[in-house]
Formats: sequence, C-alpha cells, structure tokens
Amino acid sequence: MKNIQLICSECERVYPADQPIWRCTCGGLLDIEMETSFPIQEIQKKPPNMWRYQEALPIDQPENIISFSEGFTPIIPVEFAGKMVGIKQDHLFQTGSYKDRGASVLISWAKAIGVKHVVEDSSGNAGCAIAAYCARANISCDIYVPANTSPAKLAQITQYGANLHLIPGNREATANAVLSAARTTYYASHSWNPFFFQGTKTFAYEIWEQSGFQAPQAIVIPAGNGTLVMGTWIGFNDLRKAGLIPTVPRIFAIQAKNCAPLYAAHYQHVSEPSRINASPTLAEGIAIAEPIRGKQILEAVRRSNGTFVAVTEDEIQAALISMHRKGFYIEPTAAATIAAIPNLVQSHPGIDQWVSVFTGHGLKSTEKIMAIQEQSLQ
Ligand SMILES: *Cc1c(COP(=O)(O)O)cnc(C)c1O
Ligand SMILES: [Zn+2]
Repeated sequence: MKNIQLICSECERVYPADQPIWRCTCGGLLDIEMETSFPIQEIQKKPPNMWRYQEALPIDQPENIISFSEGFTPIIPVEFAGKMVGIKQDHLFQTGSYKDRGASVLISWAKAIGVKHVVEDSSGNAGCAIAAYCARANISCDIYVPANTSPAKLAQITQYGANLHLIPGNREATANAVLSAARTTYYASHSWNPFFFQGTKTFAYEIWEQSGFQAPQAIVIPAGNGTLVMGTWIGFNDLRKAGLIPTVPRIFAIQAKNCAPLYAAHYQHVSEPSRINASPTLAEGIAIAEPIRGKQILEAVRRSNGTFVAVTEDEIQAALISMHRKGFYIEPTAAATIAAIPNLVQSHPGIDQWVSVFTGHGLKSTEKIMAIQEQSLQ
C-alpha cells in the first residue's frame, strides 16, 4: 500500500490509513497526507480518465480500482458578458454529476481495506454516486436522503440496489439520522471521509492538463459541503508543491443566497460558518446550512485570494434557462454557479483565464424544470 496517513485537523493525532475510521476519537475531521507525483510522459500515454493520475491517487493495486472510466470531461468555451469561460462538462458522468470523482476513489479505498457495507447521507447526487460505485464493487450500502429530494435521484439510488432511507425535515435531520448508523458501519461520507476529496482533486489535475499543463487564473465553483472547493484546493496545491504551477488559481465559491453560511462568514470576517436561517432554494444540492468542513472551505478560498458570491433564486432560474437555450441541459443546482459568472467577469476585467463547471445533469430534476416552465406560461 502507498504510504498514507490520516491526520486529525483538531488534535493532530495520526492514524494508519487502513483502519475503517472516518473521524478522530476527539471528534475532529481527518485529512490525508500522502506523496503525489506527476510523470507527465506516463500520464499522457494512459486512457483519458481520472485514473491516469494514479501516482497522485491513494490506490495502488489496479484490481481495487472501482471505475466507470470516469473523468477527463471536455472543457467547452462559453461566452459570458463578452468573456470566454471554459466550462468543464462534469454533468456528463456515469451517474450525472461530478460526485463520481469522489465516489470512485472512496469506494476503491473501501474495497482495498475490505469494507463490505457502507452508509452515506446526501441531498441526492452523492447518494447516487456512492450507490453506483458500490453496485460495481459488490459492496452493500444504505443511503439516507431528505424526503423532499428530487424523485429522479431517489429512483436512481434505488435502481442501483441501495437501501434508501427517506428522512423527514431538512438536510441536517438527514445528517443526524446517518450518524447513528455510522457508529457501526463504514461512513462513505462526502463531507467527513477524506478519501472523497482525493477523488474530487482530479478536477484540478484535469483542468491543468487540459489547459496545456497550466493553471487558469480563476475557477468558479459551487460551495455547499465543499467537495469541489476542497478538491480544487488540494489538487492545485499538489501541482504547486510539485513545482508544476506557480500559484493556485483564485477560487470563486458560489452559494445560493437562501442558504449562504460561508458567504455570510466571509463578509463577517470570521473563521467558522455563520449561523443562518436558511430558506428553500432551487439549488437543492448546495443547500447546506451547517457545512462540516466550513472552516477549511473558508480558509481555502481566502488563501487562494478568492471570494464568496451568493446568487438569488431569480438569478439561478435565469442562468438555468439561458444554459438550456444554448443546448446545455443542466440541473438547477448547477445553474447557481453559472449565475455568478457574468458579474464576476465584469468586476474582474484583469482576469482572462476563467474555468467553471456544469456540476449536474438536467435529467435529474425534470419536475423542478417543468415547474419553472409552467410558471413562465402563466
Ligand atoms: C454536490 C453538488 C454541488 C455542490 O457540492 P458541495 O460538495 O456540496 O460543495 C453542486 N452541484 C451539484 C449538482 C452537486 O451534486
Ligand atoms: Zn483529534
């Protein structure tokens, strides 16, 4: 096995990585420390998927890799307010969202250490991804979701053979429900489990390779639980430490105004997510009022010289319709990130290299999109 250690972000206790743990005995979040390397000539010979960066990923036995040949999604230039922005097409994954990056590494790791059963909670897409990769790995799983999750995501999780648990109330109620199950079962959490971020970091590696082995100046991505923010931060830092890029791009992290604890904290100049009164948002996938890794997300965005932006429901809806009219069929949560781009490019005229992302596929949210259509007919 590769030399990997789990380190507590609170008390700095170190654990060997092959134990099926997901948090420190002190309750703190675990982070991963491991060596990464980027043999460019070797990388370029490998198939176009995220496992081409195997020297930077925690799995070394090929038979443990659980994969649908995911990743290396195209970056398509789209014009916003007169500027071209490269949009990474991460809605084109096996399960319809970029969460497959994290699920592929996390479930591969679970297989490598002999885990037979996992639990996960999600607002939908992470549950879909964990369920699909468990199906491929022959690992059984229990997925907990809020009862009001989009029906297409519920159908998808069930079809993969997972045990689906519908929890009444908000996203936090679901998080509490899974914690009791996680006392006895491996918690394949996309917020607690640090192996998930070892997958989402490939988002950064791919952008670097697809930009001609260079980092763009700015990245515009969503922030709910921060799986993409933390992956982007870890990934570009790996490249910086390897001497392959001079600096990490500025990270612009987007929240829905109706649920924006990180945006609030940023402008209140505090280091922990703010307590907020959340209201419902079209962007169900980033409706996270109490992000577990909030402190780390705030630190990453600030250290990248980036900032937080909060978008309104009207802006999300307008961005959604505008992308659909251009032929990009994305889900409302994905549109929240896109909604921030026109103002960002206009308020930062000195930045010429922008990359953003379509995070989830529109076919996951048919009923929400139909509701928007009906509303606009009235
Ligand atoms: C999960 C998700 C996000 C946001 O990711 P976080 O990890 O919560 O920050 C954005 N869009 C879609 C479609 C998602 O599934
Ligand atoms: Zn600890």
